[in-house]
Amino acid sequence: METANTDLIVSPLFDVKQTTYGGRACFAREDSKEGTNILSVNRCLSSSISHEFRKEVCHNCLKYNNGKIMKVKLDRNQLVDDLLPDGKKEQVSRPKTFNGAGLWFCCDSCRDEYISQDNIIELIETFETLLAHFQSQAKRRNTASRIEEEHKLNETFMSPKIIGSNWSMIEKDWIPRIDQLKASKKARMLPLIYEEEYQCCRFVAQTLFNLKYTDPNSVLMKTFEALQSNEQSRIHKFPILLDSQTKVFQTLYVLLPFSLKPLLTISLFRHILGSEYGNAFGIWQDGESNDSREYLGFWIVPQASYFNHSCSPNVDKKRIGNKLTFTLNSNVVAGQQLCIDYSGILSLDVHKRQEILSENWFFQCGCEKCQLELQTIH
Ligand SMILES: [Zn+2]
Ligand SMILES: [Zn+2]
Repeated sequence: METANTDLIVSPLFDVKQTTYGGRACFAREDSKEGTNILSVNRCLSSSISHEFRKEVCHNCLKYNNGKIMKVKLDRNQLVDDLLPDGKKEQVSRPKTFNGAGLWFCCDSCRDEYISQDNIIELIETFETLLAHFQSQAKRRNTASRIEEEHKLNETFMSPKIIGSNWSMIEKDWIPRIDQLKASKKARMLPLIYEEEYQCCRFVAQTLFNLKYTDPNSVLMKTFEALQSNEQSRIHKFPILLDSQTKVFQTLYVLLPFSLKPLLTISLFRHILGSEYGNAFGIWQDGESNDSREYLGFWIVPQASYFNHSCSPNVDKKRIGNKLTFTLNSNVVAGQQLCIDYSGILSLDVHKRQEILSENWFFQCGCEKCQLELQTIH
């Protein structure tokens, strides 16, 4: 039996319901024809472009032009002129070193659209601070010792108890100690971070910024709060993540500006990263086959995170710029479950599909196609 969850109404065409076999799923509310658009999401909670592609993807429309570097960056003077009210412009320092906050755009109008978002200056300042910090550590980074450390950490066993005591140590020991230091000393206490942690800092900062300006009663907020956290399964699989997440938290705790710092609690931080695993959508290069397209990054779209996977899905998802649409690829009847393909694996054989889904999404696929194929093979 499924029970309707009235809190999570994301589309007039389907219900999000709790299932008896675990988690929520989406069910058609009425008979609908192939080709029906059942959900379009224009606003994600957060997106993260891989470090490797940071200069090659437009941070507004997510355009990727076969590895060409995007032409347009942010300019400090223009930001001050465009974003601050007249009276405040003179009070703002215009430092010579502004590196564009690690944001690249395909054209002037994408940059203009990006900076026209309400309060975006708070996020741009945060990105710029994180970038300056990341660059300041460049000389200390040593890839060989990092790899060695990764191997060592990945051999450790991480139980829920160890994860819990790590965070309670941060809360009870590290935070009080850092709070007592002068501002100038805090940054020197920060751990060395590598690309993955730097990207993660930016991702969490962007999520906090968006949460700050999201209506607590909105569908976006409700669906985000209800996302399932896969923190434990993921850290169990990649023990190094606990160390990495701790460094990200510490970096943000010291470097977040006053506008975002109050939002950074350990529990929200853990929910953001725990629910990212298994719920994020990949941002893939457009117009290429599944085998040859580039993985450019990922984004969190909580409104669209309640579709289950099926190896013969009845819903197609498609990214058009920075929008995500979901369309029926066959007729469905009222009450039928609506499923998508999680990772472009439909052409693989059943064992390979099952392996990929269990490794990355932590479940054993029991879809009709898998059941049928497993019966035939055994
Ligand atoms: Zn663009
Ligand atoms: Zn399946």
